[in-house]
Amino acid sequence: MIMHYKVSLLTRTLLLAVVFQVTTSQAQQKFSKRQIEKIKTETLNQVQAQHKNTQVMIDKVFSFAELGFQEFETSAYLTKILEEAGFEVKTGLSGIPTSWMATWSFGEGPVIALGSDVDCIPKASQYPGVAYHKPMVEGAPGHGEGHNSGVPVIITAALTLQEQMKKNKLGGTLVIWPGIAEEQLGSKAWYVRDGYFDKIDMCIFTHVSSNLSVSYGQARGTGLISVEYTFDGESAHSAGAPWRGRSALDAAELMNVAWNYKREHLHPLKRSHSIFTDAGDQPNVVPSKASIWYYFRDITYEGIMEMYDDANHIAEGAALMTKTKVSSRVLGSAWPRHFNKVIAEKMYENIQSIGLPEWSEADQQLAKAVQEEVNSNNQKGLATELSELGKPRKNPVSGGSDDIGDISWTIPTVTLRFPSNIPGLQGHHWSNAIAMATPIAHKGATAGAKTVAATVIDFLTQPQLLADAKAYFENVQSKETQYRPMITEKDPPPIYLNKDIMKQYRPELEQFYFDETKYDSYLEQLNIQYPTLNKN
Ligand SMILES: [Zn+2]
Repeated sequence: MIMHYKVSLLTRTLLLAVVFQVTTSQAQQKFSKRQIEKIKTETLNQVQAQHKNTQVMIDKVFSFAELGFQEFETSAYLTKILEEAGFEVKTGLSGIPTSWMATWSFGEGPVIALGSDVDCIPKASQYPGVAYHKPMVEGAPGHGEGHNSGVPVIITAALTLQEQMKKNKLGGTLVIWPGIAEEQLGSKAWYVRDGYFDKIDMCIFTHVSSNLSVSYGQARGTGLISVEYTFDGESAHSAGAPWRGRSALDAAELMNVAWNYKREHLHPLKRSHSIFTDAGDQPNVVPSKASIWYYFRDITYEGIMEMYDDANHIAEGAALMTKTKVSSRVLGSAWPRHFNKVIAEKMYENIQSIGLPEWSEADQQLAKAVQEEVNSNNQKGLATELSELGKPRKNPVSGGSDDIGDISWTIPTVTLRFPSNIPGLQGHHWSNAIAMATPIAHKGATAGAKTVAATVIDFLTQPQLLADAKAYFENVQSKETQYRPMITEKDPPPIYLNKDIMKQYRPELEQFYFDETKYDSYLEQLNIQYPTLNKN
């Protein structure tokens, strides 16, 4: 059995490789190792020369501070840059108004997607460069995940790649796209469902981190399904005729209690959390409607769907107990991520030659002060040593999710993590926003853009790499697991989410939009001494 697999894997790999070489060899010339190194050196210098542009993009998107599905300013700003660079921009993918895909082709060759997320975190408003909690707008959203840096990384890489592709006659197509509403896991499964990745050969995704790293195989963390349950009851005067009411809130609370009992029996790799999205309007009206919103996470598709099924039973039970009706809606989904070995290994070679940024004394002071402020168990400041190439774990680790998982099960994909943030913070928190419009974010993004650009050069100059990446995807990654979407053909993306919050805060946030025509940096516009370490 094992022998048979080995033989067929080898045969299929060779076949794929042969077919691929025949189709691309006419379009692409052969490059010697020396020529490739020369192109890469020039590429890295060009990315470095764009550092100012990268900084402006990062500061600008930071200042927009837009939540998922409401990334209107962010998308308008970023697509304008790409349009001016000759990209053809398509908007409104899968009926999501803030979504877009920007395409630029230079002849025949691989179609390479470069992506990153753009949305921010509720109540994470924070002045950058200040080492303690200081909201710019009290209660407003802010980039407490660092998603303001990722698309600037890939745009910087793409603008450099355009030059190099033209100069060296490297055939290929670049497709730039943002993950919309990543915090809601709200777009990527829809893009896959609606075929936007069908004609793309591979994807390099990027995500902010505190080191320059990449991994392959099943990633640390989980996949999930996000479901909102809504109960329908009957209202009545809570004091005058409470016996005539059937409380939808009672049902939602009973569901919550039952799931909390269930939690005792979940495997430790499973995680779930919820909020009440509608808990009635006022005490003297028996709530006729109530909603509770869950994320159900596990490291396998089967485990996720099992939790979803259990929750559906609990919801029905809660409705039965309260004589209410229950309905549910899927608001998001994410497959557990699996990353491509061939792309990751090639990328890691580039990571080793690019290395971490050189941090200034001010950068390190800020990082250490923030780590101390949030009681981090890492108080060593910014990373100064590269992490190892991430390999599949023998013992999987639970944790967060990212709907890049759905793309990673559709085409060969990796996520490059780049060092724009401070290590040891808790995530989804104001402290994670502090570094995100400072030299830490800017330098980390330039390192990230260099890595993306160099890796794309590798794939454009050596067609065998893509053939190998596809063979890994077909024969290793997909050997035992078949992708099945968690959303149905009918599920619409929940584009109404966060509309009211942004409506409330946008007028105040607008006062803080970065004006790059007047100021060199956002820190300068906000008149912040870098770093500001103490409250006095
Ligand atoms: Zn993220």
